[in-house]
Amino acid sequence: MIKFLDLQKINLQYQEEIETKILEVFRSGWYLMGTELSSFEKNLSNYIGSKHAIGVANGLDALRLILRAYIELGFMSPGDEIIVPSNTYIASILAISDNKLIPVLVEPDINTYNIDISKIEEKITPKTKGILIVHLQGRVVFSEELKKTAERHNLKIIEDNAQAIGAEWQGLKSGNLGDSAGFSFYPGKNLGALGDAGAITTNNDDLAKAIRTLANYGSNQKYVNIYKGLNSRLDEIQAAVLDIKLKYIDTENKIRRTIAKHFINSITNPEIILPEYPENEKEHVWHVFVIRSKKRQALQDYLSNKGIQTIIHYPIPPHQQEAYKEWNHLSFPISEKIHEEVLSLPISPVMTNEDIEKIISELNDFK
Ligand SMILES: *Cc1c(COP(=O)(O)O)cnc(C)c1O
Repeated sequence: MIKFLDLQKINLQYQEEIETKILEVFRSGWYLMGTELSSFEKNLSNYIGSKHAIGVANGLDALRLILRAYIELGFMSPGDEIIVPSNTYIASILAISDNKLIPVLVEPDINTYNIDISKIEEKITPKTKGILIVHLQGRVVFSEELKKTAERHNLKIIEDNAQAIGAEWQGLKSGNLGDSAGFSFYPGKNLGALGDAGAITTNNDDLAKAIRTLANYGSNQKYVNIYKGLNSRLDEIQAAVLDIKLKYIDTENKIRRTIAKHFINSITNPEIILPEYPENEKEHVWHVFVIRSKKRQALQDYLSNKGIQTIIHYPIPPHQQEAYKEWNHLSFPISEKIHEEVLSLPISPVMTNEDIEKIISELNDFK
């Protein structure tokens, strides 16, 4: 069977290095807020090009903490509005509503699946304080127009970079394009830990300080609390593993690009709509390879019978979730169409050529 993502094989590429390091951390007796975390934070900020990188417990926490810090610093207040794509993983939106901010959904561009930047301005009101962009599927969404819109209305640009570590826009890494960015190192992400992990990057000293304090119970001096904070830490073992895997992320992303290009050049079945290969290939790290089909269910069943595992990212749009009952009556036709038609094919840095060729030929034989 061709797995959707073979995590065991991905991590066993670095077996010796990772096992040695984990044993070292185990034997050291120091498990939180130590040298592994500071080393990873330093290497991550170097990699992204940002002044600060802060390890936290997971990607949702990263986004929650960014927004919470903007509230504590007085840039936002509960009840303010944050623009967010209607086509995203639910966590982007949960981070907003968790802070009692109001998510304002904007439709995606059907060709990139990312927020349609030209539709942002019309959704801005006096209450709008930020734009949470999501580099969905690993593809950067950014433009001069977006930057100008944010400047004109004094909005923070927050990047959800959970799916796009390593992607670049005009020589800058995603995670260093806006005012702050949240990362997830969930095991299945392009840079995956062996459990939950996340990070925040920013160039703003005050924001970084507020986030570190908020993530530490609201305290920056032991037993003195300035905020009603949280506990959100990236532990030493996860930091150590991520520090090792960060060295290989560019190589892995390059393999993903090669596979994506080959899929696009070789899948010719008219029943299948292929993703766009961006003119500047660095703008995409192919976290997932998403095709569309009017016959999605039949296609998924067919591939499953041929031993090819696929996943739907995602079956239900956020505005139709029970958790957001207040939006269930709304209509976001582009987002709905995407959710009805998408199917993610296996793509990973450890796929064999036989796997890749089998996926292509089975897809081309689908009727
Ligand atoms: C994975 C993901 C998150 C959440 O990250 P966790 O580490 O699972 O909390 C947020 N946003 C997007 C777009 C994601 O893909």
